[in-house]
Amino acid sequence: MNLDLNNRRALVTGGTRGVGRAISLALAGAGANVVACYRADEESAAELGRRLKQLGGDHHVVRADVTAPADVAALADHVRTVYGGLDVVVNNAGVDSMAPLAVLEGEEWRRVLDTDLTSAFLVTQAMLPLLGEDASVIMIGSAAAERGVPMRAHYGAAKAGLAGFTRSLAKELGGRRIRVNIVAPGIVETEPGAGLPEELFQRFTGLTPLGRLAQPDDVAGAVLFLAADLSQFVNGVTIAVDGGI
Ligand code: NDP
Repeated sequence: MNLDLNNRRALVTGGTRGVGRAISLALAGAGANVVACYRADEESAAELGRRLKQLGGDHHVVRADVTAPADVAALADHVRTVYGGLDVVVNNAGVDSMAPLAVLEGEEWRRVLDTDLTSAFLVTQAMLPLLGEDASVIMIGSAAAERGVPMRAHYGAAKAGLAGFTRSLAKELGGRRIRVNIVAPGIVETEPGAGLPEELFQRFTGLTPLGRLAQPDDVAGAVLFLAADLSQFVNGVTIAVDGGI
């Protein structure tokens, strides 16, 4: 058993920036062919395309809004056309948002729930017919799901919902030898992480026994483990990548 993902076919939603970009590059670096989707930012999509090309392999960077059923259906068609099937799905696309409950608007609640939870339902359901035996579905959750974070009730609700979705699917799809797991980071130093007020940044770093915040590659490492045969008997669990906070 090893981390070799040669000839595996992977989809990474929100795979062009931040954590998703690190996951796309790590999977491709381990030999997988990768379809990475994004919503709007053409510049980072083009940059990822160039990086993937340098690594070699059959990679595709595709615009698809994972909250839009028609886009998700088109994404599944694309994957079917280029690969014929799929071995790894990483439901990574997500948005962060902060608002106290008193002023949290319904529209913002729905935007976060749509992007961080419903998208995983839409994508996993659409990709299901493409998944073969020993496929691995990986959700990018959050420490906020279990711990709760003030001003992130909507985000915490979405990520906690993702955890319930995952545990149910792990039981439902286990009979087809499809594994479903979560990687749950603490704060990652990407755009949203880096956008933290300095005081919070220092506080979370101080609270983390390993003395720093996560880098995108830390999350990608756990995803590689779950994508590979190394984790072939790991199903329905959450792997925290939070430095032990
Ligand atoms: P970024 O904002 O850096 O990147 C988000 C990616 O998702 C982009 O590629 C973006 O595309 C894409 N995306 C967003 N909405 C959609 C959509 N509707 N359809 C398709 N693609 C979409 O986010 P992070 O890398 O920080 O976060 C990635 C995941 O990690 C999320 O699920 C987040 O909740 C989780 N996480 C992040 C933490 C952090 O501190 N950063 C901590 C814990 C969990 P585009 O560039 O086109 O907008």
